[in-house]
Formats: sequence, C-alpha cells, structure tokens
Amino acid sequence: MPAETPALEAAASETNRDFIRDLVQADLESRRVTSVVTRFPPEPNGYLHLGHAKSICLNFGLATEFGGICHLRFDDTNPVKEEQEFIDAIKRDVHWLGFDWGEHLYHASDYFEQLYQWAEHLIRAGLAYVDDSPVDEMRAMRGTLTEPGRASAYRDRGVEENLDLFRRMRAGEYPNGARVLRAKIDLAAGNMNLRDPVLYRILHAAHPRTGTAWCIYPTYDFAHGQSDAIEKVTHSLCTLEFEDHRPLYDWLIEHLPVPARPRQTEFARLNLGYTVLSKRNLTDFVKRGIVTGWDDPRMPTLAGLRRRGVPAEAVREFVRRIGMARANSIVDLALFEHAIRDRLNQSSQRRMAVLRPLKLTIENFPEGEVQELSAVNHPDDPAAGSRTVRFGREIYVERDDFMEVPAKKFYRLSPGREVRLRYAFLVTCREVVKDADGNVVELRCTYDPASRGGNAPDGRKVQATLHWVCAADAIPAEVRLYGTLFNRPDPGADGDIFADINPESLEVLRGALLEPSLADVSSGEVVQFERQGYFCPDLDSRPGAPVFNRTIGLRDTWAKVQAGGG
Ligand code: ATP
Ligand code: MG
Repeated sequence: MPAETPALEAAASETNRDFIRDLVQADLESRRVTSVVTRFPPEPNGYLHLGHAKSICLNFGLATEFGGICHLRFDDTNPVKEEQEFIDAIKRDVHWLGFDWGEHLYHASDYFEQLYQWAEHLIRAGLAYVDDSPVDEMRAMRGTLTEPGRASAYRDRGVEENLDLFRRMRAGEYPNGARVLRAKIDLAAGNMNLRDPVLYRILHAAHPRTGTAWCIYPTYDFAHGQSDAIEKVTHSLCTLEFEDHRPLYDWLIEHLPVPARPRQTEFARLNLGYTVLSKRNLTDFVKRGIVTGWDDPRMPTLAGLRRRGVPAEAVREFVRRIGMARANSIVDLALFEHAIRDRLNQSSQRRMAVLRPLKLTIENFPEGEVQELSAVNHPDDPAAGSRTVRFGREIYVERDDFMEVPAKKFYRLSPGREVRLRYAFLVTCREVVKDADGNVVELRCTYDPASRGGNAPDGRKVQATLHWVCAADAIPAEVRLYGTLFNRPDPGADGDIFADINPESLEVLRGALLEPSLADVSSGEVVQFERQGYFCPDLDSRPGAPVFNRTIGLRDTWAKVQAGGG
C-alpha cells in the first residue's frame, strides 16, 4: 500500500481548522503577510520526541497548506549541551516524519556575528549594559512577582565603558560567569522576563559549528526572535511556556534594526498519558541506562517509535486528530494507540507466529506427510493475495490457548474440546502429556481430515479459531513485548519520576516460533501476527536469528496497566 504524502493528507484535512490556521488565513487576507514562512527550531541537545512531532506537523503542515515554506533551524546557542549526533538525528527524524526543508536549513550560529552587532547596537542606544554582579546576587536583585527588582551597581555604566567591556568579553579576557550583557528595560515590570534579561553570557566552550571562534553566546531570548527576523519568518509558533517571553520578543524586534517583524503565537504543548515528553528527563533515562538508548522502542522519541514499528503516517494522523488547542492538557494514550492500530490494520499483512509454544501432536495425521494450505495475507485487501503454509503431524499452538480445566467463557482448547486451526483443520484434544513436575508439555489430538480449510462438511460449529505454526518448518525467534515506561498516567506528579517507572516495561520471549515467510519481512515493515498484534523486525535482527518487536497489541495495553498488571 503506497504511503500517502503529507501534502495529500493536508489537502484531505483542509476542513481541520484551528485558531492558528484561522490566524494565518486572516493575515494573508489582510495582506499583513504575502506568503507564509514558518520554522521548526529544535535545540540539538537531544532526540526529537512525539511533542516535537506536533510542532513539526504544524510548522511544515502550514507551509504546505498555504503554499509557503518552512525552515529547519537549529537553535544552537548552548555549545555545552549540543552535539553533532543530535543534529544528524534531528534531520533524519524530520525526514522520516515526511517533511523536507529543501534548501532552508539554518542555524542560529550562522547569525552569531549579526547578533553580536545588534547587541552593540543596543549598547549604543543605551538599552543594554554589562553587569559584573555574581549570578546569585543578580538573581536576588530580580525581585519576585510581588516585589520589584533592584538595580545593580553597573546599570548606569556609560556607553563607552559598556562597549569596551562587551568587546573584551568577546575577546576572551574574562572567565565564565564573570560578566553578562543585559538589556536595560524595566526592573519593576510585572513580567519578570522584562527585568533586564540577560542577552549574552561568557562560555569558554567549543561549538560544534563555530569551533572556538566565540566565547560569548547569546541567550535563547536574544537569538530566537532575531533569527526569525533574519529569516523573515512570518509566524513564529511555539509552546505556551514562551507566552511570558513574548513581550521581550516584541521589545527586541522593536528596538533593533531587523529586516522583518515576525510575530510569535503560542499553542499547547503535547502531554501524553503514561509518557514523559521532556528532553531533560529523556536524557536522564539514557544516561542512567533505564533504556538502552535514544532509540529504545519504549522511548517516545521518533527514533524509538520508528524502531518499534510505528508508521510516520500514524504519528501525523494522531497529531491531526488531537488538533491545536490553546490550553494545556494530557492526551489519553489510547488516542495515540488508536491512530497506530488504524494505520497498521490497513497496511500490515497477516502472518502466524506462536509466542509461547505448546506442542500439539495429531495422532491420526500420517507420519512424514505435509499438506500445503492457502492463507490470505489481508482479510480486507484481496490484492494482497495469499501464501502457502505447511501443515504436519506436529504443530505448535499458543500455551495460553489451552486450559486443562477451562474457566467460564474459555472456549479454546481443553480436554475433549474441538477447535479450528486457522486455514487448516478442526482438531480435538484427546490427551494431555505432562512432565515429572506436572507441567503440560504436549497435547495429543486428532483431526477431521474432511475439514480442510477449517470447516466441517456437516456444518458443525466450533467456538474458537487458533493460530499455529508447523513444527517441521517454523523458525525460532526472539520477540520483545513492550509496556509503557511508566505505571501511572502522570509520571512524576508526586515529585520523583523514577519512582513511577514500570519495572515490567520489557518482556523478552526467546522461544517464539514463526511461520517461515516471516524470515522475509524487511526492516521497516510491520506485519500482524494473527491474534497477537503488530510486529516488526528489530534493528538487532540477523538472518537466521530474527528478533521482532511488538509495535502494539490488538487491544489497549494501557487498560491492563490501569487495572494493575496483566
Ligand atoms: P525541553 O524538553 O528540554 O524543554 P524543548 O522541548 O524546548 O526542550 P526544543 O528543541 O527547543 O526542545 O523544541 C523545538 C520546538 O519543539 C519548540 O518550538 C518547542 O516549542 C516544540 N516542542 C517541544 N516540546 C513540545 C511538545 N511537548 N509539544 C509541542 N511542541 C513541542
Ligand atoms: Mg527549547
């Protein structure tokens, strides 16, 4: 099934309006802007996660829908935390999600010289000063929400002295933290961000792109809006926590000779149940070894989701379904899971695999004989065709599909009971074989040779249909089942996020058995194991030693978590 392009999806969802799309539409109609320019501005200090996907789909989606362009801009102003690995991963993940910035790849670090010149411009205008106060003193002097800030002794330095000191900061004459450049705005402002915010700090650290050319770096607030202006971004979209920064954003644009006047608009951050979407926390999980890496399939990173088998289409569809609210909320994990299942149900071929095998011997089936049966690849898609599966005297079924003493409403195998083996025959359990410890190790059954294909000629009904694999040609595999990383919908709500980690988030099954065609599944392809869920080959999979990840079960896994274990 060919993947739809984001542009087609966007066209299909044109009725999906929200306050941002309305705003853009209005700006175009009023001619405030003539074409739309957006940007996705990640800081390369970690991998992208599902929250970023919301921002990517919004920014790139708007550009597509309104015939504009979207830039990828690295907000690389803090060399201490930024790495080339993250830059590469971010590009890979944006592409994977289905978006392309074309030639519009930018870096805040490209603008360091221009930003520096603008800082001098503010100094000359008497709107910025070098402050020598120690960090904690400066913090104490900022005041509180109820108390105004106090001026530092350096606030009224003359322009010449400020220029000289700032240039010497740039020249590397002072150690880290010795001085900062601050905007001179209003120490009594109700908005703390206007109380003479820091614009530049000294940081003797090599930068992945500018090397050791700089030892002063602009703060987020000084770099972001000015970068938007340089790129002539028309709509600077960010999450709600930046709402309080908007007056500063506007102040800087107003007082600098920038080539354009971008506008910032905020939207709600994506928060997802049972999931953490904070780069700081995700970094911690990687560093502490709670996960195997940024692409651990339990991580909400795009790299983790991809490895787990979640299709990019499902991520985009999920973002479309949740919409662009203005208020923060926690989205139910089930919504994400539904989007994944909806997509995979359409796109995944069906196969059979037994995760926890139990041997089943058919006593009246001739020794050494093999029958070839036809199995459909997709129940709703005849074009997907069918394949041949082999059936023999010894097969394996799922251990869970047998109960020696059947519970109420358990209709699958038990002594004396007849069931259907999918695509094959009706079999009846005649005898249960146990080992010395009393564990069931084999079922002895008989089959009805007239029921080939799964139906008896006399039309008698059976209550259950089981999947199976043939002992003669099944291939052994490792299968990894994932649960949520956390065992509560709001991890960390009690203060300690590590206390909420789900100790059973990974279950490894080493003795699974697959039907032989599963050896041919390529990486990146997801198949449905009938009755079990959707699975894909893991990066660790090798020819002859397959490893499969469960992308998602057929039903809500989170419901089990809520009920207190499965
Ligand atoms: P941290 O988690 O460390 O605060 P960040 O989320 O701010 O990092 P950035 O790389 O600065 O990471 O984010 C890039 C863009 O993605 C920003 O515009 C930010 O607003 C957006 N973004 C980040 N997290 C989310 C989220 N959970 N929902 C929606 N957008 C997000
Ligand atoms: Mg950020």
